[in-house]
Amino acid sequence: MTTIAHRDADALALRLDEARRDYAGLKDRGLKLDLTRGKPSPEQLDLSAELLTLPGGRYTALDGTDCRNYGAPSDGLRELRDIFAPVLQVPVDQLLAVGNSSLELMHDCLVHALLGELPGAEGRWADQRVAFLCPVPGYDRHFALCARFGIDMIPVPMTDGGPDMGVVEDLVRSDARIKGIWCVPKYSNPDGTCYSDETVRRLSAMETAAPDFRIFWDNAYAVHHLDGEAEVGDILAACREAGHPDRAFVFGSTSKITFAGAGVAFFGSSPANVAWWRANSGKRTIGPDKVNQLRHALFLKDTDGLRAHMRRHRGILAPKFAAVDRVFSEQLGDTGLATWTRPKGGYFVALRVPDGCARQVVRLAAEAGIAVTPAGATHPHGNDPDDRVIRIGPTYPTLEELEQIAYGITVCVRLAGYERLTAQR
Ligand code: PMP
Repeated sequence: MTTIAHRDADALALRLDEARRDYAGLKDRGLKLDLTRGKPSPEQLDLSAELLTLPGGRYTALDGTDCRNYGAPSDGLRELRDIFAPVLQVPVDQLLAVGNSSLELMHDCLVHALLGELPGAEGRWADQRVAFLCPVPGYDRHFALCARFGIDMIPVPMTDGGPDMGVVEDLVRSDARIKGIWCVPKYSNPDGTCYSDETVRRLSAMETAAPDFRIFWDNAYAVHHLDGEAEVGDILAACREAGHPDRAFVFGSTSKITFAGAGVAFFGSSPANVAWWRANSGKRTIGPDKVNQLRHALFLKDTDGLRAHMRRHRGILAPKFAAVDRVFSEQLGDTGLATWTRPKGGYFVALRVPDGCARQVVRLAAEAGIAVTPAGATHPHGNDPDDRVIRIGPTYPTLEELEQIAYGITVCVRLAGYERLTAQR
């Protein structure tokens, strides 16, 4: 990434001086800004304000269920599953609306596979040494789940079309300990990558040494477009056609559609896996919060209503992502110090700084009053071996704050980058 200018000692010294001056100026601003997590902004939450008035005295679902009471349907309300089945690419009879958090469902899948037997398994995972493939950079909470349950994590590099499938295929073919892979197939966290058709095909068709291998298909950003409307292949159909019908677990939620943490989560899979889920979750809960599901169904109305709602989110978010790109381009464009993603959807931008600088950038930003996600969070055990990737979540701050944050980060990148180049001379 180093440009000619950096090989010239005088030019480098000049740039380092400038960066030091700008950093001192940044500290003088006395900022107190937070960019640590990808949360919807209050303005986005206001888009769903009507939810707080719903179901407005109504309590019967379309099938006549009294949502106030215990009882069927334990799979969740049909009218809500109908809305999400097309976007999550799961046949509605195989899609359950349960709980308020998809992460919780991923957690439960792991727990049930550890404590009981998955369809096709030769034993409980708790009795074996288990490993998961972790495409990197990836989502820290996936890695935290593995760490929590003593599941070994094997990093796999991401490419422009998803995980490097050559590496994935070689590993799963030869190592029966590898029981799963984490996938965020659309607008991945944090790179914004969309899995190619080729990746979906190879994931579904590959030979795995473990008979109970599962793809944890976390489709958290299925409808969260910023530019265009990307399509990703249908993993359940691909697995079925490849003769591995039970290979994929599909997850989704309304956390970044309606209210984060107060929405509805979804689990979809093959009929055998759904039966396995029902048998396990039936012990854990008498049923989901049907009143919240009714409220969501009334609010979103249908799949077109959901898409229209997401266009309103896009109206708020697209200018924020554009602002980050603009400030980064203005301040870093000709430095050769950084590259960053321009995602067409999702919640994050991945900023890549010179090797060995990410932690220093985050430290400098913190000292200047800008809290950024810890460097390394995008890798298992918080360890980015190149110390290069920083996750930027532009959604929560106001546009004005975001411009300050983005500028502040570029100052820290210049300071850390030029200091390192100077030290390396
Ligand atoms: N998966 C991914 C990839 C995410 O980015 C997030 C939220 N940051 C989640 C899952 C969590 O979703 P939920 O609120 O449904 O647990």
